[in-house]
Amino acid sequence: MKSSTERICLDHITIVLQRPRFPENIGAAARAMRNMGIRRMIVVEPENYDISRVLKMATHVAADVVQEIQIAHDLRGALSPFHLVVGTTARLGGEREVVQSPSHIAFRLISLSQENTIAIVFGPEDRGLSNEDLRLCHELVNIPTAEFSSLNLAQAVMVICYELFTAGRPLMEQNIPRLATRHELDGMYDQLRDILVRINYINPENPDYWMNKIRRFFTRLQLKAGEVSIIRGVCRQIDWYGKKRHECRNDGCGIDSPN
Ligand code: SAH
Repeated sequence: MKSSTERICLDHITIVLQRPRFPENIGAAARAMRNMGIRRMIVVEPENYDISRVLKMATHVAADVVQEIQIAHDLRGALSPFHLVVGTTARLGGEREVVQSPSHIAFRLISLSQENTIAIVFGPEDRGLSNEDLRLCHELVNIPTAEFSSLNLAQAVMVICYELFTAGRPLMEQNIPRLATRHELDGMYDQLRDILVRINYINPENPDYWMNKIRRFFTRLQLKAGEVSIIRGVCRQIDWYGKKRHECRNDGCGIDSPN
């Protein structure tokens, strides 16, 4: 089992476009790949490979991806060196029975991609991958959509590349909160119970009834240490204010904050 901080080996991923019809889509797909750190592209039997139209959509940033595109003459030959072939499909049913979501496949590729080369295949804009093409794929992936399921080719490439790029991001890159410890939480609950009883918010005969509700509510929030400090600060202030009011009833003094 690989560690949760591992990422997909993007160097082992190749985007394969089967018979794309519009050079602009090839360029936009190259740009999407470049955004997500994927550089290898194979284009099989492009209908009209006009490099200037490809480059226009790729922009200069993805020009290197475009320069290195391999042009292939049949899908079977293009896919033969790969260890795993993943097909993408907008349609479901028939030969497209077992399909996975992009995030699910990305998760699986975290470990597989360390030792294996992987091709992700996209079909032509008008008809998608044929049944014969699909038989070359080990797995199929579908991007969930509302009722209109067919994405623009380059946008489908972007969604898949994004999932591959973000899968298994090292935990360091994510903003991981420091949750409050059990000890910090228990201190907060004691203080809350005390103050809520004293201000008559909860019944002193049965404080646990309300405290359990409050605990459940806070547990759902997964409080951070700093947030526990805020709640404890509010309790202290309520406590201080109540005492001060009590004293002032007797001698009429002004109220200043303790802070
Ligand atoms: N009209 C075709 C869709 C072609 S779109 C059809 O109904 O099959 C061109 C390619 O983009 C598809 O072959 C597929 O590779 C990809 N694509 C588009 N929408 C997709 C989706 N919802 N899920 C997965 N891939 C999709």
